[in-house]
Amino acid sequence: MLKSLNSDSIALLAGIEGGGTKFKCAVATQDLKILRSKSIDTSSPKETLNQVRDFLLSCQSDIRCISSIGIGCFGPAQISRESTRYGYIETTPKQGWSNINVLGFFKKFFQAPSAFDTDVNVAARSEFELGAAKSYENFAYVTVGTGIGVSVYMGGNVAKGISHFESGHQLVPRHPFDKEFVGVCDFHNNCLEGFASGPSIEKRWGKNPEEIPDDHMAWDIEGYYLGVLCVNLTLNYRPDKIILGGGVMNRRCLFKKIRQNYKFLMGSYLEQNLPPDKFIVPAHLSNDSGVIGALLLAKNEISE
Ligand code: ZN
Repeated sequence: MLKSLNSDSIALLAGIEGGGTKFKCAVATQDLKILRSKSIDTSSPKETLNQVRDFLLSCQSDIRCISSIGIGCFGPAQISRESTRYGYIETTPKQGWSNINVLGFFKKFFQAPSAFDTDVNVAARSEFELGAAKSYENFAYVTVGTGIGVSVYMGGNVAKGISHFESGHQLVPRHPFDKEFVGVCDFHNNCLEGFASGPSIEKRWGKNPEEIPDDHMAWDIEGYYLGVLCVNLTLNYRPDKIILGGGVMNRRCLFKKIRQNYKFLMGSYLEQNLPPDKFIVPAHLSNDSGVIGALLLAKNEISE
């Protein structure tokens, strides 16, 4: 519902979390008070982006002009500002979405400064500024849902190579009782996303993960693969913390299993500064971390 604003001087931020299943959009004041939000099913690029645009235009007409836009989008995506393809989704298995200029689409309709990053990076930003990573400069943020994404912060900044990391597709050893399963990744035979994303759980057990009880072996296997991920992230990046969010991580019994697997697989190698239940932790902002991170990205555009 539309709420009134006290001051005309308040900048209106727009945040868009573009996910493979839904686009979540919000407009907010500069102190991140969300005034209006909308969730749009991800269908074709044209239909989806037009609906997001219409939502933002209606907010402009009802509230005020949007001062800046932050977009966190599924990928692979081009997030380098130096690239001529900044703001594009690159080759993606998501039907119809390869080579779509998401940032360019919004620039056609809005004059406001705008910024583009991955959905995982913006979620990590929100955990860094407001959530589980507050006061930690080195951490890894993992989202486990339709896909698996990883964002790594080092020294208070998101780390990247020529583009964002793709640690969700790292190759992993199979669970001893998971020898036959053909993963869901179109590109790799033995990758984490293929074995441990939400769709992989559904394919392996033939049912919606939400219908699988806590004492089912599904969660032992899932805890193993995510434990492997935490070991690899620790060996590669030495984070102070590993934060796990996304729909699959709403299954809270997983955290204990991940910590146990981490401990077993790591052995006595490397001591962490924090005890296991403080080292491998749930995201604080859970389902809102993406859209809040997109709003923080928008805010950063006008405060730089
Ligand atoms: Zn893969």
